[in-house]
Amino acid sequence: MCASQVIIGDGIAGASAAETIREVDPDAEVTVLTEEGEALYNRILIKEFAKGKLPEAPVSIHDPDWYDEREIDLRLDTVVTGVDTGAHEVYTHEGETFEYDKLLVATGGTPTQLPVDDSDADGIHHFWTFQDARAIKESAEAADTGVVVGAGLLGIDLAAICGAQGVDAHYLMRGESWWRYALSKEGAEIIHEAMEEIGVTPVFDSGVDHFETDEEGHVTAAVDPNGERFEADFAGVAIGLNFNTEFLRGSGIETDNGIVTDEYMRTNVDDVYAAGDITQFHDVILGERAQNGAWGSAKEQGSIAGQNMTADEPDAEFNWVSSYSITHFDFPFLSFGHPTLGDDSVEKKYEDETWRRVALKDGRVIGGVLIGDLSAQSVLKKLARKQIDVSDRKDLLLEQGVDLDAFEDPATVN
Ligand SMILES: Cc1cc2nc3c(=O)[nH]c(=O)nc-3n(C[C@H](O)[C@H](O)[C@H](O)COP(=O)(O)OP(=O)(O)OC[C@H]3O[C@@H](n4cnc5c(N)ncnc54)[C@H](O)[C@@H]3O)c2cc1C
Repeated sequence: MCASQVIIGDGIAGASAAETIREVDPDAEVTVLTEEGEALYNRILIKEFAKGKLPEAPVSIHDPDWYDEREIDLRLDTVVTGVDTGAHEVYTHEGETFEYDKLLVATGGTPTQLPVDDSDADGIHHFWTFQDARAIKESAEAADTGVVVGAGLLGIDLAAICGAQGVDAHYLMRGESWWRYALSKEGAEIIHEAMEEIGVTPVFDSGVDHFETDEEGHVTAAVDPNGERFEADFAGVAIGLNFNTEFLRGSGIETDNGIVTDEYMRTNVDDVYAAGDITQFHDVILGERAQNGAWGSAKEQGSIAGQNMTADEPDAEFNWVSSYSITHFDFPFLSFGHPTLGDDSVEKKYEDETWRRVALKDGRVIGGVLIGDLSAQSVLKKLARKQIDVSDRKDLLLEQGVDLDAFEDPATVN
């Protein structure tokens, strides 16, 4: 009898699992359920579309034919509302039931709304789907003034969209600098200056107390907690994600701001796996639970889950240093691993737009941020992956041509 593999979510994690399962098991029944109305597209590129720099077509990755050709049953516009792990069944909003032998939950997250008055007014946008990008593009093209809220990797995309669309925008941040958990103020200054150059003004120790709207309910301004008012007929909010686990209530699957898995992407419930942004996975490099929000990591987790779902005994392990790059400015930017974690760090500014910070835990590299010169990324990622103890050679991490051989003392390799 052929196995029935059901995948919830057609983002990169779900789609990559479906592809892997089909490659490994030509006979499996594979079903992919997604609430979106379109098949897998490149979520990383929707910001370039919203900037007006890329048409729709190159953003798409698979069309429905891709699934047909592989005999993968893709169900668009299908919201999963419940899972019975005892009966091995999945339920949808239209009352359909799908039986599974193995189930993968790859449902990612949904942007969090600001808990302030009028945060759902017209012209206020959150950014996750291609549909969001279409609405953002249209709204930004028509706007003269804007605000962006959320000093992280998605907030900066919204700021860059304002810059590219000629919106005179203020970027309201809670602390003294952008992404303060990963960058020191000195590193962040490079980003602040680059924002100014594209026409976006950073505002520190700020945020949104409430929005103002016109009679039609369209946003006109944001007022920050200091009482300062910023005119805005466009607003972009990126303050975090709520992970899509609500349909798992009562299923027995352990959740904790996401779905808890081991390094094989198994949940605590037999035959149920999870992959992608939604996982709180056991990170074999960190030696503790972690969560990634990056495309490459979600793709790899989907592939690992697919391999293990088709194996008698799961043996493919997720062992990965993720990376995330930003291409909005005329210098490159890359963060890798877990730059916001750790118990120590080293950093250095080299030139005007070149800076590096490496985060360490127990004397081992766990992440970092590179601005301007990315040439060290491969060595730093290898050091993280191999968990080499660098505690007595930390200064070498900041050498411009950082050399792996300088660290590879076999006695220190785990
Ligand atoms: C604007 C933007 C820019 C980004 N830029 C970068 C970048 O430069 N580099 C990088 O590495 N990462 C980037 N990311 C992050 C990256 O896109 C994500 O880490 C990745 O897409 C996560 O994939 P996923 O498959 O885990 O989840 P998702 O892509 O979120 O897919 C989950 C899918 O599940 C569906 N779903 C949810 N609930 C249900 C349900 N109940 N029933 C059915 N379907 C459901 C959702 O609709 C969605 O289609 C960016 C993200 C955004 C939004």
